[in-house]
Amino acid sequence: PVKRGLSLDEVVNGILNNDRPILARAITLVESNAYKHIEKAQQILNCILPYTGKALRIGITGVPGAGKSTFIEALGCYLCDLGLRVAVLAVDPSSSITGGSVLGDKTRMEKLTREKNAFIRPSPSGGTLGGVNRKTRETMLLCEAAGYDVILIETIGVGQSEVVVRSMVDMFALIVLTGAGDELQGMKKGVMELADIIIVNKADGDNEQKAFIAQKEYNQILHYLRPATEGWETKAFTCSGYYGRGIDTIWEEMKNFQKTVQASGVLEKRRQSQVRDWIYAMIKDQLEQKFFNHPEVKKVLPETEQAVITGQQPVTQAVKYLFDQYEQ
Ligand code: GDP
Repeated sequence: PVKRGLSLDEVVNGILNNDRPILARAITLVESNAYKHIEKAQQILNCILPYTGKALRIGITGVPGAGKSTFIEALGCYLCDLGLRVAVLAVDPSSSITGGSVLGDKTRMEKLTREKNAFIRPSPSGGTLGGVNRKTRETMLLCEAAGYDVILIETIGVGQSEVVVRSMVDMFALIVLTGAGDELQGMKKGVMELADIIIVNKADGDNEQKAFIAQKEYNQILHYLRPATEGWETKAFTCSGYYGRGIDTIWEEMKNFQKTVQASGVLEKRRQSQVRDWIYAMIKDQLEQKFFNHPEVKKVLPETEQAVITGQQPVTQAVKYLFDQYEQ
């Protein structure tokens, strides 16, 4: 939490001046589940809101081992060399279970960590997916207010985290390996349909030719998919995150995306619908918590559940009974 004695003004000014310890402490407040921290965090967010929204928000996904962190480090360092400021966040819904802040534990992104224009923050351990969602979004806003030009959000773990990250970024990048055909078998087509760019990684050494073939295969498949973003054609690129090859072309494509969606108004529309969805997601989340934490509901839930699974009560009636307890 923000050190005692720092006024709201000092915290807000600290963030706006990219005072990193203050930014880090504000993020800790945002990540806290304690009521008084949430209130303070909301005051800070309220003040910095006018200074948010200027960054390009990029989500990066791919199966474990595809090379996400290697790629993010390469891209991050490349952007820092261009004089840009980069924040790297992660969404890992399992981090509350493993207790691990994956980005923090591993000595990953060592080079990027040393860049003064890079800020790396591990996934919040939010408990629920909804908690991680809120915390990451709010952290992103704090980073934007601190002047970061590019926000890279990595999905760690599988399943829902991709959808959550897609719902908070402008552009979604999918990192894949060679053998598009094989990989598609294992990969949900749905994830490909979310992608604004596909990056065939590890295009180096013996793998280089295969990567070019995979790039072609992906481009062919993409023709048959619904575009992820209106007015934008998703294309596949090759890259070696390890050797830093292809990063410049990919960054050009990312800038091109930004320019295109800004000009067409699709970016603004996307961001508006994202915050609108966020409102409803949060309402649902809080209703759910309230419901399950309600003392009367808690009291009768086990026996009601039992009555249903042993066939003594129909589901609809049981649920109605639970809501009666909640609303009484
Ligand atoms: P993540 O799980 O998706 O974050 O993947 P990592 O970035 O941790 O990379 C997984 C493994 O692949 C590591 O051993 C990396 O050194 C290796 N790797 C990542 N990118 C490349 C690349 O471009 N070329 C090669 N040859 N290996 C890579």
